[in-house]
Amino acid sequence: MTRRDLLKRAGVLGGIAVAAPAFPSSVARAFVAAQQAAAAADPLTAMRAQMAATPIQQTRLTNLIVMFSGPGGNVVVRNGEEGKIVVDTFVQGAFPALRQRLDTIGNAPIVATINTHWHFDHTDNNESFRKTGSKLIAHENTKKRLAQPHDLLGMHFTPAAAAAMPTGTFTQSDHITFELTGAEEYIDLGYIPPAHTDTDIYVYFAIGDVLHMGDTFFNGQYPFIDAGTGGHINGMIAAAEKGLKMTNAETRIVPGHGPLGDRVALTRYRDMLVTVRDRVQKMKTTGRTEKEVVAAKPTAEFDAAWGTGLLQPDAFASIVYNTLS
Ligand SMILES: [Zn+2]
Repeated sequence: MTRRDLLKRAGVLGGIAVAAPAFPSSVARAFVAAQQAAAAADPLTAMRAQMAATPIQQTRLTNLIVMFSGPGGNVVVRNGEEGKIVVDTFVQGAFPALRQRLDTIGNAPIVATINTHWHFDHTDNNESFRKTGSKLIAHENTKKRLAQPHDLLGMHFTPAAAAAMPTGTFTQSDHITFELTGAEEYIDLGYIPPAHTDTDIYVYFAIGDVLHMGDTFFNGQYPFIDAGTGGHINGMIAAAEKGLKMTNAETRIVPGHGPLGDRVALTRYRDMLVTVRDRVQKMKTTGRTEKEVVAAKPTAEFDAAWGTGLLQPDAFASIVYNTLS
């Protein structure tokens, strides 16, 4: 259903709403059913339902670290005897299935849930995780963005409930480290200057050598860049460079979306971003309009490999154009 269809239907329902009280009860019931259908067609509700219906895939990264994929951004769990550390939360509706997976891998409590950034497909179950007794850790800007209303890709977000807010935040671009079972066991969280949003952090599991890059890394698909909350193509490239500096050939690199990656995958991604950015920048600098740049197909040779994800090639070219000056 297109957005125009949606708006048209909303208009029609609006007309019925005025007349509904005068209708016999069977019509009133039909009206209620129509209202429920309209609610289900709300873009955010529809997206949540669609994502929540995606089956969860499980990938073992180390003896203690597991990656779950499917109903939202990739989730990484460290299942230590002292408790579980969970990175990102999937969307509302997927919590029961995720909880079941977490229970299946072990009965240690969830001690900390980390948000890589503010987007709903990473933070939607914050409240449910907090109810389990977990603390919620994120960058200070994630807390700030969650407290604001946003309009994103046709979806409207109201400020998050108090119970969904991070309970522990940090602002520094240097790492915060918390120890789990002694001096040798630690997880680094570090701020990534504005890239996908202005709330991005990386999470590095030092002992397992696993790096979760959140949505600064889309593996095998053009990345979404949320310029409305501070995202920028140059920040995305800087984030990829940062990831490459932090890792070696053995490091398992988890993207926000797409399959598990490594340095080869992250290098390929960085090179694609740089090539597209340079082409678009050159054209914009010489005065070409967004329409002209998109028509020039600056992503052409990457489209077969990268153009089948969330973003179509033209949409990605537009985003790159608009974040550049
Ligand atoms: Zn995101």
